[in-house]
Amino acid sequence: MNRILIKNIKSLVQVSDNPLLRKRSGIEMNDLPVLNEAWLAIEDGLISGYGLMQDWEGITDWNNLEVIDASGKFVFPCWCDSHTHIVYAGSREAEFVYKIKGMSYEEIAKQGGGILNSAKKLADASEDELYESAKNRVWEMIGFGTGAIEIKSGYGLSVASELKMLRVIKRLKETLPVEIKATFLGAHSLPTAFKQNREGYIKLIVDEMLPQIAAEGLADFVDVFCDKGFFTVEETDTILKAASAFGLSPKIHANELDYSGGIQVGVKHKALSVDHLEYTGDEEIETLLNSDTMPTLLPSTAFFLRLVPPPARKMIDAGLPIALATDFNPGSSPSGNFPFVISLACITLKMLPNEAINAATLNSAYAMGVENMLGTIAAGKQANVFITNEIPSIEFLPYSFGSNLIEKVILKGKLVLDREV
Ligand SMILES: [Zn+2]
Repeated sequence: MNRILIKNIKSLVQVSDNPLLRKRSGIEMNDLPVLNEAWLAIEDGLISGYGLMQDWEGITDWNNLEVIDASGKFVFPCWCDSHTHIVYAGSREAEFVYKIKGMSYEEIAKQGGGILNSAKKLADASEDELYESAKNRVWEMIGFGTGAIEIKSGYGLSVASELKMLRVIKRLKETLPVEIKATFLGAHSLPTAFKQNREGYIKLIVDEMLPQIAAEGLADFVDVFCDKGFFTVEETDTILKAASAFGLSPKIHANELDYSGGIQVGVKHKALSVDHLEYTGDEEIETLLNSDTMPTLLPSTAFFLRLVPPPARKMIDAGLPIALATDFNPGSSPSGNFPFVISLACITLKMLPNEAINAATLNSAYAMGVENMLGTIAAGKQANVFITNEIPSIEFLPYSFGSNLIEKVILKGKLVLDREV
């Protein structure tokens, strides 16, 4: 039995007596419950209790107990990164330079760059190579305070390579201490071999990829890049219908490049989340208000590609919830630095620090279907928490953009990273 007691916590952030709280929307997004001068107890991988130091009754049982003094420090539930593509081979800094010189995302894609470039590199990589490089990325993300990661396929674009990616994700799930969810994104881009045969590729996804993936239990969710130059609303509809027969609920890439209809088709299929949303107007907001779908924003992608930022303020003011994620991928967001994403949400999307922290914990846990076990500090939830350095306030975190203020990370009740020693 492994037990940890964290005492003298300056502020225990995102505390909830209600472990069933699913998300915060609209004005509630600015509610961030904290306990000042607090303690937190962890047992068998779970949060077993918390309270104020003044009410603390001391330690009666010292067996297998590790005590951490967090004087002057904050304790947060780990970030939940609900949208990433961290299984990939090679990097794409050459395209980064093309972009600086003025080429657009679509122009690069048309020239065989972009997703197809990653697909080519992935086809040549072994499962072991993919596993090793993705594992390093996961550890880098843990170092930024992330405790749950959704990972997508989508650089395979053939039956063999999509299965290869999903098997790598399964191995990451089985070997690493973070919580991982797998999403099948066969419809990420149309592969070169099917340039003249769109229907044929959709058929391959529906008739071959989905049944094999389901048979091996390799995916938790399904995703489609429903946007200008990628997949249409009709194609998305076909894929989501087929996936639902295998029990896969959708998470959709939507409205990044245009008013694509992606939000509407996602909501129609009860998507857990619709992600990107740079092109969100009144109609899309209305559709989302009448749904349980989590609008997820990826500000580091908008930053990296210099896109017009999504209207986060308008969405929150209309009563919507927002989740945040890194979109960590080699083409449009080559970073898993979640604190930087939170800073960008404040700086470029004008989200308040409390809103951004709700979006990165409780709401992003919802966006990847783990809100019952992660996203808040509640008794019985999985003990994925981080301890900061000595900092003056919660707002100091997004304010100090680019700094890493995280000192210790505890995942499933075990101290996995300690920068103090
Ligand atoms: Zn993405």
